[in-house]
Amino acid sequence: MEYSIGVDIGGTKVAIAIVDHHGVVVGQTVIPTDLSIKPEKMITIINETIAKLIKDNSITSEYVKGIGIGAPGPLNSKDGIISCPPNLSNWIDIPIVEQVQEYFSFPVILENDANAAALAEKWLGAAQENNNFAYVTISTGIGAGLFVDGKLLGGSRGNAGDIGHTVVDPSYGQCPCGQFGCLEFIASGTAIARRGSEIAGKQLSTKQVFDLYNQDHKEIKAYVEDVFRIIGVACVSLINTIDPEKIVIGGGVSKVGAPLFDAVRTYVSQYALNPGGRKTEIVPAVLDQNAGVIGAAALSFSG
Ligand code: ADP
Ligand code: ZN
Repeated sequence: MEYSIGVDIGGTKVAIAIVDHHGVVVGQTVIPTDLSIKPEKMITIINETIAKLIKDNSITSEYVKGIGIGAPGPLNSKDGIISCPPNLSNWIDIPIVEQVQEYFSFPVILENDANAAALAEKWLGAAQENNNFAYVTISTGIGAGLFVDGKLLGGSRGNAGDIGHTVVDPSYGQCPCGQFGCLEFIASGTAIARRGSEIAGKQLSTKQVFDLYNQDHKEIKAYVEDVFRIIGVACVSLINTIDPEKIVIGGGVSKVGAPLFDAVRTYVSQYALNPGGRKTEIVPAVLDQNAGVIGAAALSFSG
């Protein structure tokens, strides 16, 4: 049996798993991301945790194909560098692949987290049959992994698919990135909680905004329908750009379910330019928990 180590680095936690070549997680551990220490120190802790996990699960290192690391962008996956992710505030130009590679004998690969999750959906999830699809995550932020002509689309530095900062409607105001009307500034979980709370006149979570929507709260209903329309706009842009067979939508916000998917399907069926594109399947992600580590592990198996 061959194994791969998947490492999913987030702003609050680092999940590490040993995954076999069928995609079964045979061992895993989660450690907090400590942003008060230097990234180099945090990576040393990650290395030690990986080594311990391998030892505790009695895996012989000759059966380990590699270590895949999924991390938030911006990054440079080709050079193995984490560049400047907003939620890893002090991680600036960190050569993570080099530092992990110094510790282990097997190959180490870095990929952005949305791309890793797209690989997981291709391997074991909603896109197993597809050679052209987009995976979109609508969570704290918004990102995408694009799978085109049978391959993950990387781009020159591995940041392809960063659709959160494509402009969909400048009238929504200025995004922290400087542009006006970015998709993420309008339709992320963070944005929905912020704007929904303003409309309701009290502090609400994203889920509570959707609860009011389901209770037919007049202003919230109109607002949420507009957010779904904007997600539809983004999906049409993706369809017009990469001509996918399917769009897989995951992340916390996608848990609202049918109202989102129905609205996006309706919008796409009207506005995708190509008549074939109007029939693009819009489906929920299958792998929710574990998508990060499984996708990161998939990097070693697919590479
Ligand atoms: P992360 O961004 O850390 O990957 P998630 O994919 O869980 O995490 O996304 C978190 C966002 O999704 C938050 O804005 C949260 O409020 C929202 N969210 C989580 N669960 C739900 C739910 N059941 N319904 C609507 N929104 C949700
Ligand atoms: Zn932006």
